Amino acid sequence: MSDIPAIEVENLVKIYDDVTAVDGVSLTIPKGAIVGLLGGNGAGKTTTITSIMGLLRPTSGRTRVLGADMMRERHSVLHRMNFQSPYVDLPGRLTVRQNLLTFARLYGHPNPKARAQQLAEELELFPFFDRKTGQLSAGQKTRVALAKALVNDPEVLLLDEPTASLDPDTAGWIRDRISDHRTKKGATILLASHNMREVERLCDRVVFMRRGKIVADATPTELLEKYGRETMEDVFIDVA
Ligand code: ATP
Repeated sequence: MSDIPAIEVENLVKIYDDVTAVDGVSLTIPKGAIVGLLGGNGAGKTTTITSIMGLLRPTSGRTRVLGADMMRERHSVLHRMNFQSPYVDLPGRLTVRQNLLTFARLYGHPNPKARAQQLAEELELFPFFDRKTGQLSAGQKTRVALAKALVNDPEVLLLDEPTASLDPDTAGWIRDRISDHRTKKGATILLASHNMREVERLCDRVVFMRRGKIVADATPTELLEKYGRETMEDVFIDVA
Protein backbone atom coordinates (compact mmCIF):
# COMPACT_ATOMS: atom_id res chain seq x y z
CA MET A 1 0.00 0.00 0.00
CA SER A 2 1.37 3.39 -0.96
CA ASP A 3 0.40 5.10 2.31
CA ILE A 4 2.73 2.91 4.40
CA PRO A 5 5.54 5.15 5.69
CA ALA A 6 9.05 4.32 4.53
CA ILE A 7 10.44 4.38 8.08
CA GLU A 8 8.68 4.18 11.44
CA VAL A 9 10.34 4.33 14.81
CA GLU A 10 8.04 3.71 17.74
CA ASN A 11 9.11 4.58 21.25
CA LEU A 12 12.63 3.25 20.68
CA VAL A 13 14.79 2.73 23.75
CA LYS A 14 18.33 1.34 23.71
CA ILE A 15 20.28 0.93 26.91
CA TYR A 16 23.88 -0.32 26.83
CA ASP A 17 24.87 -1.42 30.34
CA ASP A 18 24.50 1.88 32.19
CA VAL A 19 24.21 4.21 29.14
CA THR A 20 20.80 5.11 27.77
CA ALA A 21 21.78 5.77 24.15
CA VAL A 22 18.22 6.22 22.82
CA ASP A 23 15.46 7.24 25.18
CA GLY A 24 11.97 6.95 23.71
CA VAL A 25 12.41 8.08 20.09
CA SER A 26 9.38 8.08 17.79
CA LEU A 27 9.65 9.12 14.18
CA THR A 28 7.66 8.62 10.98
CA ILE A 29 9.24 9.30 7.60
CA PRO A 30 6.99 9.26 4.54
CA LYS A 31 8.14 7.79 1.26
CA GLY A 32 10.32 10.08 -0.85
CA ALA A 33 11.56 12.34 1.96
CA ILE A 34 15.16 13.18 2.74
CA VAL A 35 15.46 13.63 6.50
CA GLY A 36 18.56 14.72 8.40
CA LEU A 37 19.31 13.28 11.82
CA LEU A 38 21.43 15.74 13.77
CA GLY A 39 22.94 15.99 17.20
CA GLY A 40 26.25 16.30 19.00
CA ASN A 41 28.59 13.40 19.73
CA GLY A 42 26.82 10.65 21.62
CA ALA A 43 23.31 12.03 20.96
CA GLY A 44 22.08 8.63 19.77
CA LYS A 45 22.05 9.05 15.98
CA THR A 46 24.05 5.95 15.08
CA THR A 47 22.13 3.83 17.57
CA THR A 48 18.84 5.01 16.01
CA ILE A 49 20.02 4.33 12.45
CA THR A 50 21.46 0.93 13.36
CA SER A 51 18.18 0.00 15.02
CA ILE A 52 16.25 1.03 11.90
CA MET A 53 18.53 -1.20 9.84
CA GLY A 54 17.61 -4.09 12.14
CA LEU A 55 21.25 -4.64 13.12
CA LEU A 56 20.68 -3.82 16.76
CA ARG A 57 18.05 -5.23 19.10
CA PRO A 58 16.27 -2.39 20.90
CA THR A 59 15.79 -2.59 24.67
CA SER A 60 12.16 -1.71 23.91
CA GLY A 61 10.10 -0.17 21.14
CA ARG A 62 10.26 -1.09 17.48
CA THR A 63 11.39 0.03 14.05
CA ARG A 64 9.66 -0.67 10.75
CA VAL A 65 10.86 -0.19 7.18
CA LEU A 66 8.24 -0.21 4.41
CA GLY A 67 5.87 -1.74 6.96
CA ALA A 68 8.16 -4.62 8.00
CA ASP A 69 9.12 -4.99 11.67
CA MET A 70 12.92 -4.93 11.55
CA MET A 71 13.31 -7.41 14.39
CA ARG A 72 10.88 -9.98 13.04
CA GLU A 73 10.40 -9.46 9.30
CA ARG A 74 13.52 -7.73 8.03
CA HIS A 75 14.26 -10.42 5.45
CA SER A 76 11.16 -9.37 3.57
CA VAL A 77 12.54 -5.85 2.95
CA LEU A 78 16.34 -6.14 2.98
CA HIS A 79 16.46 -6.19 -0.83
CA ARG A 80 14.57 -2.87 -0.93
CA MET A 81 16.87 -1.00 1.47
CA ASN A 82 20.56 -0.38 2.02
CA PHE A 83 22.90 1.58 4.22
CA GLN A 84 26.29 3.17 4.56
CA SER A 85 27.99 3.29 7.91
CA PRO A 86 31.47 4.28 9.05
CA TYR A 87 31.22 1.41 11.54
CA VAL A 88 30.79 -1.31 8.91
CA ASP A 89 33.97 -1.88 6.93
CA LEU A 90 33.94 -3.31 3.43
CA PRO A 91 36.23 -6.35 3.06
CA GLY A 92 39.66 -4.68 2.79
CA ARG A 93 41.41 -7.52 0.96
CA LEU A 94 38.99 -7.34 -1.95
CA THR A 95 39.46 -4.76 -4.66
CA VAL A 96 36.78 -2.14 -5.19
CA ARG A 97 35.62 -4.07 -8.25
CA GLN A 98 35.42 -7.36 -6.30
CA ASN A 99 33.55 -5.67 -3.46
CA LEU A 100 30.92 -4.19 -5.77
CA LEU A 101 30.58 -7.47 -7.68
CA THR A 102 30.11 -9.35 -4.42
CA PHE A 103 27.43 -6.99 -3.17
CA ALA A 104 25.67 -6.92 -6.56
CA ARG A 105 25.56 -10.74 -6.43
CA LEU A 106 24.40 -10.73 -2.80
CA TYR A 107 21.49 -8.49 -3.75
CA GLY A 108 20.67 -10.80 -6.66
CA HIS A 109 21.36 -8.30 -9.45
CA PRO A 110 20.77 -9.99 -12.83
CA ASN A 111 24.07 -8.62 -14.22
CA PRO A 112 26.51 -7.98 -11.34
CA LYS A 113 29.41 -7.11 -13.64
CA ALA A 114 27.45 -4.44 -15.46
CA ARG A 115 26.11 -3.04 -12.18
CA ALA A 116 29.63 -2.78 -10.70
CA GLN A 117 30.81 -0.94 -13.83
CA GLN A 118 27.82 1.37 -13.79
CA LEU A 119 28.40 2.30 -10.13
CA ALA A 120 32.11 2.86 -10.80
CA GLU A 121 31.14 5.25 -13.56
CA GLU A 122 28.47 7.08 -11.53
CA LEU A 123 30.70 7.47 -8.48
CA GLU A 124 33.95 7.94 -10.45
CA LEU A 125 35.69 4.94 -8.92
CA PHE A 126 37.69 3.88 -12.00
CA PRO A 127 40.99 5.49 -10.84
CA PHE A 128 41.09 2.99 -7.96
CA PHE A 129 38.71 0.27 -9.19
CA ASP A 130 41.35 -2.48 -9.04
CA ARG A 131 42.98 -1.43 -5.78
CA LYS A 132 42.38 -3.27 -2.53
CA THR A 133 39.69 -1.45 -0.59
CA GLY A 134 41.79 -1.62 2.60
CA GLN A 135 44.52 0.45 0.91
CA LEU A 136 42.30 3.35 -0.12
CA SER A 137 42.27 6.78 1.46
CA ALA A 138 39.40 7.60 3.84
CA GLY A 139 37.72 9.72 1.16
CA GLN A 140 38.00 6.98 -1.48
CA LYS A 141 36.55 4.46 0.99
CA THR A 142 33.63 6.78 1.65
CA ARG A 143 32.85 6.83 -2.08
CA VAL A 144 33.06 3.05 -2.33
CA ALA A 145 30.80 2.73 0.74
CA LEU A 146 28.21 4.91 -0.99
CA ALA A 147 28.49 2.80 -4.17
CA LYS A 148 27.87 -0.31 -2.06
CA ALA A 149 24.87 1.41 -0.48
CA LEU A 150 23.41 2.08 -3.94
CA VAL A 151 24.16 -1.36 -5.41
CA ASN A 152 20.53 -2.55 -5.21
CA ASP A 153 19.05 0.83 -6.16
CA PRO A 154 17.37 0.95 -2.73
CA GLU A 155 13.97 2.48 -2.02
CA VAL A 156 15.12 3.26 1.52
CA LEU A 157 18.66 4.46 2.09
CA LEU A 158 20.21 5.01 5.53
CA LEU A 159 23.39 7.04 5.59
CA ASP A 160 25.59 7.65 8.62
CA GLU A 161 27.80 10.67 7.93
CA PRO A 162 28.12 10.02 4.19
CA THR A 163 30.57 12.85 3.54
CA ALA A 164 32.89 12.41 6.53
CA SER A 165 36.57 12.57 5.50
CA LEU A 166 35.81 14.18 2.14
CA ASP A 167 37.15 17.50 0.90
CA PRO A 168 34.42 20.14 0.34
CA ASP A 169 34.28 19.64 -3.45
CA THR A 170 33.94 15.87 -3.23
CA ALA A 171 31.44 16.22 -0.39
CA GLY A 172 29.29 18.52 -2.54
CA TRP A 173 29.54 16.11 -5.42
CA ILE A 174 28.48 13.18 -3.20
CA ARG A 175 25.52 15.23 -1.96
CA ASP A 176 24.45 15.62 -5.58
CA ARG A 177 24.64 11.83 -6.05
CA ILE A 178 22.45 11.36 -2.95
CA SER A 179 19.96 13.91 -4.22
CA ASP A 180 19.99 12.27 -7.69
CA HIS A 181 19.10 8.94 -6.10
CA ARG A 182 15.96 10.44 -4.56
CA THR A 183 15.04 12.17 -7.81
CA LYS A 184 15.52 9.09 -9.98
CA LYS A 185 14.08 6.50 -7.65
CA GLY A 186 11.74 8.51 -5.40
CA ALA A 187 13.83 6.98 -2.62
CA THR A 188 13.52 7.82 1.06
CA ILE A 189 16.77 8.84 2.68
CA LEU A 190 17.64 9.26 6.35
CA LEU A 191 21.06 10.68 6.95
CA ALA A 192 22.95 11.31 10.16
CA SER A 193 25.26 14.25 9.79
CA HIS A 194 27.30 16.84 11.66
CA ASN A 195 27.44 19.01 8.60
CA MET A 196 24.77 21.71 8.79
CA ARG A 197 25.27 22.96 5.26
CA GLU A 198 24.78 19.44 4.00
CA VAL A 199 21.53 19.15 5.88
CA GLU A 200 20.32 22.57 4.78
CA ARG A 201 20.95 21.72 1.14
CA LEU A 202 19.70 18.18 1.06
CA CYS A 203 17.00 17.66 3.64
CA ASP A 204 13.27 18.37 3.56
CA ARG A 205 13.15 17.89 7.29
CA VAL A 206 15.57 17.89 10.18
CA VAL A 207 15.37 15.87 13.38
CA PHE A 208 17.65 16.96 16.23
CA MET A 209 18.63 14.55 18.97
CA ARG A 210 20.11 15.34 22.35
CA ARG A 211 20.95 12.73 24.99
CA GLY A 212 18.89 10.07 23.27
CA LYS A 213 15.76 12.16 22.78
CA ILE A 214 14.32 14.13 19.86
CA VAL A 215 14.40 17.82 20.77
CA ALA A 216 13.30 19.33 17.44
CA ASP A 217 11.66 18.00 14.28
CA ALA A 218 10.87 20.52 11.53
CA THR A 219 11.90 21.80 8.10
CA PRO A 220 15.15 23.80 7.92
CA THR A 221 13.12 26.95 7.13
CA GLU A 222 10.85 26.43 10.16
CA LEU A 223 13.88 25.96 12.41
CA LEU A 224 15.61 29.09 11.10
CA GLU A 225 12.42 31.06 11.78
CA LYS A 226 11.72 29.51 15.17
CA TYR A 227 15.22 30.21 16.49
CA GLY A 228 15.55 33.56 14.67
CA ARG A 229 18.82 32.43 13.10
CA GLU A 230 20.30 32.80 9.65
CA THR A 231 22.12 29.49 9.34
CA MET A 232 21.54 25.93 10.47
CA GLU A 233 24.96 26.06 12.15
CA ASP A 234 23.56 28.69 14.53
CA VAL A 235 20.37 26.69 15.06
CA PHE A 236 22.52 23.68 15.92
CA ILE A 237 24.31 25.67 18.63
CA ASP A 238 20.91 26.59 20.14
CA VAL A 239 19.33 23.15 19.91
CA ALA A 240 22.07 20.54 20.32
P1 ATP B 1 28.48 10.47 17.13
O1 ATP B 1 28.00 11.70 16.43
O2 ATP B 1 29.61 10.74 18.07
O3 ATP B 1 28.72 9.31 16.21
P2 ATP B 1 25.86 9.45 17.89
O4 ATP B 1 24.84 10.53 17.99
O5 ATP B 1 25.87 8.63 16.66
O6 ATP B 1 27.31 10.04 18.17
P3 ATP B 1 25.68 6.95 19.33
O7 ATP B 1 26.88 6.39 18.65
O8 ATP B 1 24.36 6.40 18.98
O9 ATP B 1 25.64 8.53 19.18
O10 ATP B 1 25.92 6.80 20.91
C1 ATP B 1 24.96 7.18 21.89
C2 ATP B 1 25.51 6.81 23.28
O11 ATP B 1 25.56 5.39 23.42
C3 ATP B 1 26.92 7.33 23.56
O12 ATP B 1 26.99 7.71 24.91
C4 ATP B 1 27.78 6.11 23.30
O13 ATP B 1 28.97 6.17 24.07
C5 ATP B 1 26.88 4.97 23.73
N1 ATP B 1 27.15 3.72 22.99
C6 ATP B 1 27.02 3.55 21.65
N2 ATP B 1 27.33 2.29 21.31
C7 ATP B 1 27.65 1.64 22.46
C8 ATP B 1 28.04 0.31 22.78
N3 ATP B 1 28.15 -0.63 21.83
N4 ATP B 1 28.28 0.01 24.07
C9 ATP B 1 28.16 0.94 25.04
N5 ATP B 1 27.78 2.21 24.82
C10 ATP B 1 27.53 2.56 23.54
